[in-house]
Amino acid sequence: MALLRGNDYIESLKRINPEVYIRGKKVEKIYEHPMFRQTINHISAGYELAHDPLYKEQAVVFSEISNEEIPRLQMHIQKTKDDLIKKAILTREISSQRICSGCMSNMLSVTYAMIHDIDSMHGTDYFPRFENFIKRIQKNGELIAWGMMDPKGDRKLPPSKQPESTDLKIVARKKDGIVVNGVKLHTTFAPCAHHVVAVPCRALSEDDKDFAVSFAVPIDTPGIKMIARPSPGPSHEVSIESPLSSKFLGVEAMTIFDNVFIPEENIFMCGQWDIAANLPFYFASLHRQSKCACSAGHADLFAGTAALCAEVNGLGTEVSHIRNKITDMIMSAETAFGCSLGSVETGFTHPSGVYFPNAVIANSGLNSIRSSIGTHISHLHDIAGGLIATMPTEADYNNPKLKKYIESALKGSSKYTTEERFRALNLAQDLAASRLTGTILGFTINAAGSPETNRVVVNRLYDLKKRVDISKQIASIEI
Ligand SMILES: Cc1cc2nc3c(=O)[nH]c(=O)nc-3n(C[C@H](O)[C@H](O)[C@H](O)COP(=O)(O)OP(=O)(O)OC[C@H]3O[C@@H](n4cnc5c(N)ncnc54)[C@H](O)[C@@H]3O)c2cc1C
Repeated sequence: MALLRGNDYIESLKRINPEVYIRGKKVEKIYEHPMFRQTINHISAGYELAHDPLYKEQAVVFSEISNEEIPRLQMHIQKTKDDLIKKAILTREISSQRICSGCMSNMLSVTYAMIHDIDSMHGTDYFPRFENFIKRIQKNGELIAWGMMDPKGDRKLPPSKQPESTDLKIVARKKDGIVVNGVKLHTTFAPCAHHVVAVPCRALSEDDKDFAVSFAVPIDTPGIKMIARPSPGPSHEVSIESPLSSKFLGVEAMTIFDNVFIPEENIFMCGQWDIAANLPFYFASLHRQSKCACSAGHADLFAGTAALCAEVNGLGTEVSHIRNKITDMIMSAETAFGCSLGSVETGFTHPSGVYFPNAVIANSGLNSIRSSIGTHISHLHDIAGGLIATMPTEADYNNPKLKKYIESALKGSSKYTTEERFRALNLAQDLAASRLTGTILGFTINAAGSPETNRVVVNRLYDLKKRVDISKQIASIEI
């Protein structure tokens, strides 16, 4: 049952009725609305991986929690080196085809570890509840959206010191549950998921204890409202233009909790402020190991598209400056991917069983590829040429009166038809000169935490004192 097909997933959306708005209007049937087409397509493709002979072996894993085969990227609790390696390989592959691999298993795994810490430190019984939740989603093939990032208001102030915090907060404690109020921002794909899992996004103090809250909740629970931001591509289907963003990627959402009741069995943290920092700490390790592989996949896509554009333009990749630029993109991908794989070797097993990679290596790898994304975009503009920002649109190309002019003016290599060149340049435009470009930048720079947080992790964990001592020894300075 857990290995749903894409169509099973679409059917499941008909059974839920969340309160969702897009471009100011309430959405009646998500599964029929054109602005959710790419998101549903994207998520369906994720479900289909488990049935694709090419990817099945890596995409499916046996879960000891539910005793079933489940989709690895979406719902697996990662407990071995092999789990992290297979996830990284698959993540790079899928991200090179459709930007986002939907790696929600990272979020489930870091939450699993944090909840284990709560029970160990506080003698609570949240961990079995979370395991039950995992069992449920694995058995039913249900998808989670990740509600971590609070609005945070003035960044210098903790939530309890904000004049009017909208960070998610416990506002009432009842016999059979809690009531929460507030917002989670950037909940990717949330209107097309089944549940939102909320967790804290930063270290908290005792004064902030009401903000220390974690739970899972079906997205159509009364009081939950989502304001969706359309995915970057056109909402109508196209043949040539935006070849990637017209088919894939998805909506973002601002998820509002307006006095939402959370029953006791769905609560995984309730006031344990001293454990809140563990979540972003684990996230900064496991998710960034994935993110190295994900960004490597994006660099692969940029490199492949740049090489294709060089070919349709007639130059090919033998021209040295083109070859060098593409080689730089490849090396950038391999460096980040190497860090993703290498960080696994020197990781550690958390008492919950979750395996965490070496966070210094994972953060260094991510920092390296993050700082190259601007160069990849610029190389693609450079190699493809100015047309990716100026060429006529698909509608012009399809107008018989205009087509003959476009056909002759846009001719390139004799090995390709003008239409083929037009298609290649449209892919380059989608990647480097469109709303999708902004989304890719957002994914690279901010998703998984802002770049400075890479340095924070490295500074905190790297043993610099040992290095200073060695330097002192060499320089004959007393330690
Ligand atoms: C495409 C995309 C998808 C995402 N998906 C999800 C998702 O599914 N779920 C989810 O929960 N989140 C998601 N996020 C959110 C993402 O994790 C955050 O955007 C990221 O952590 C940065 O937080 P912020 O946007 O609040 O920016 P800020 O934290 O406000 O950062 C802005 C700048 O301020 C600096 N800064 C902030 N606070 C301080 C401080 N106290 N001292 C010094 N400098 C500071 C930062 O270093 C940065 O330079 C997504 C983001 C993107 C772009």
